[in-house]
Amino acid sequence: MSAFLVASGFSRKIPVPIRSTRADVNLNALQENYQSITRFLASERSPSGIVPGIIAVVKANAYGHGAERVGLALQQAGATVLSCADIEEGVALRKAGVTTQVLVFGALSVSDLAGLFDYNLTPTISTPFAGRAVAAEAQARGTAIRYHLKIDTGMNRLGFRHDNLQRTLPDLVESPQLRLEAVYTHFATADDLDHPLFDKQRRRFDRVLSELKALGVTPAIVHAANSAALLRDSRVWYDMVRPGLLLYGVVPSPLATTIALEPVMTIKSRIVAVKGIRPDEAVGYGAQFMADEPKTIAVVPAGYADGLDLRMAGRASVLVGGRRVPIVGSVCMDMIMLDVTGLPVNPGDEVVIIGTQGSQSITARETASAIGTIPYELLCRVGSRIERVYP
Ligand SMILES: *Cc1c(COP(=O)(O)O)cnc(C)c1O
Repeated sequence: MSAFLVASGFSRKIPVPIRSTRADVNLNALQENYQSITRFLASERSPSGIVPGIIAVVKANAYGHGAERVGLALQQAGATVLSCADIEEGVALRKAGVTTQVLVFGALSVSDLAGLFDYNLTPTISTPFAGRAVAAEAQARGTAIRYHLKIDTGMNRLGFRHDNLQRTLPDLVESPQLRLEAVYTHFATADDLDHPLFDKQRRRFDRVLSELKALGVTPAIVHAANSAALLRDSRVWYDMVRPGLLLYGVVPSPLATTIALEPVMTIKSRIVAVKGIRPDEAVGYGAQFMADEPKTIAVVPAGYADGLDLRMAGRASVLVGGRRVPIVGSVCMDMIMLDVTGLPVNPGDEVVIIGTQGSQSITARETASAIGTIPYELLCRVGSRIERVYP
């Protein structure tokens, strides 16, 4: 019998076990966060008086939360525009049944443009080259396509330079295949309240908008703000804002907000073994943790193959029995070890790596800061081996 027949024979009769290390993704919390941001935008007044719409950012598998389920939940919550990093992510959203507008942020390579047309995705055009390529593909198909124009106001990544538009723009806006729907920019330092570049970019972008007007270019929509910019300055709300991290219930450091947000992802596991060690005995690869007195060590089946970070050893804590306990030794591929000395801990007990247990919480922001990274990285890194459970 072939391997395939054996496997399918098994899958018909026997339920597939779920690993004890899992990510619970609370889609209700996600929808509530979306509504909370909507209410905040409506209640705070921007200088223009416009209540901005939301472009809900679901790139990178919805920051690790699962783009298909998250995209559909946001659509159900009323989102009219989702955005993703590339055409492939956009196609995955469409295949999942997302029918909202889908904006692709990233650069377009030459070969994959068919997906824009076949799956009704809205491209960002951020270089003259991309403009010509999309126009050519549209022409070959006898059609036209709407697009968002990206302006580089100082991040020096993607976008038409803010100070060179007289030269670069005419070709683009004159193409009969390309229909300008929106103009946008992206801030490099929105989460750094002291950095002068934010205001510089804001003023450059306003200058670009006047210049476009003078050139007779009138986009229906202007947008600029990611989560941090949305929180710090209503002058950059324009017609739409582009929150990612906030939707997932995480506030970018070091900002704070009054918006009611709930973390969407909880990462949990269970203790698989508990053992005592003696003074002068070490734990884990590299013997990095040395017991100075008798210790109790708990082993948890979650490691860097699940997206945990090596830097968590000796720096981050997790929750067991409603208490914070430190990760000791090293983060292994498939396991971590905890110092649970003095606690009544048994195999099978729940471990919360990110989330709430009893009265204690550990946030992605806290763990990220303990290991010197950002919550974005922690969330996006949650491994493909971790089952996303949508309770
Ligand atoms: C990722 C991204 C966002 C969302 O950023 P957050 O900080 O998660 O809100 C917004 N705009 C662009 C262009 C992005 O790439």
